[in-house]
Amino acid sequence: MKKLILVVVFISLILGVTSLFKYSLSTKELEGVSLKKVVVIDAGHGGFDTGSIGYSKTKEKDITLSIALNLGEKLNEDGFIVYYTRDKDVSLGKNERDDLNVRIKMINSLKPDIFLSIHLNGSDYKSAKGIETYTRESDDKSYLLGESIQDELSSVEYTTDRGVKTTKDRKLAILDRTKHVGILLELGFITNKSDEEYLVSKSGQNTVIECILSGISTYFNKIL
Ligand SMILES: [Zn+2]
Repeated sequence: MKKLILVVVFISLILGVTSLFKYSLSTKELEGVSLKKVVVIDAGHGGFDTGSIGYSKTKEKDITLSIALNLGEKLNEDGFIVYYTRDKDVSLGKNERDDLNVRIKMINSLKPDIFLSIHLNGSDYKSAKGIETYTRESDDKSYLLGESIQDELSSVEYTTDRGVKTTKDRKLAILDRTKHVGILLELGFITNKSDEEYLVSKSGQNTVIECILSGISTYFNKIL
């Protein structure tokens, strides 16, 4: 009988240790995941919605997608969890309003640490050029993210620095109807010859992506 009790105690001890090990392993795994930052990248336009048409007839939707996908790849390599609102040439609704609603819903349900909506400006004035970043009005964290990225982009001097602006300057549903830290980037004017040339080029896109990555890292270092 004594022997039987010993065996039972021994078995329950082993089971206890095993389940404890399993528990601590899964807790550790969960901690690891929660430490990873989630980024949503929203490539502006797509499908029937070309966005602005460039000086040399480039479509805004193609440049935003190319930058979004390459930026996402780099963020992935750096350990971020990346989601795209689109990863190919499609629209997300049957008209622009539906498309925008889907993007907004996606961002709100993914609850990212940050999101970036990538666009290029367009104007009837071919001389209009420059980078501008939009953030939500009275949102310090989003402003910090926008400022960090705008500073990096303007330091390259590929075009004019038009500064950080807010939804007070221009109503933007993607910022007004989302709750998470986020910005909308206008990386240059596609209707301007030199801005378009730079943003179409592989080297220009790579530089822009490096600037965005530096800005993101500055932001996370400052809020930690
Ligand atoms: Zn756009």
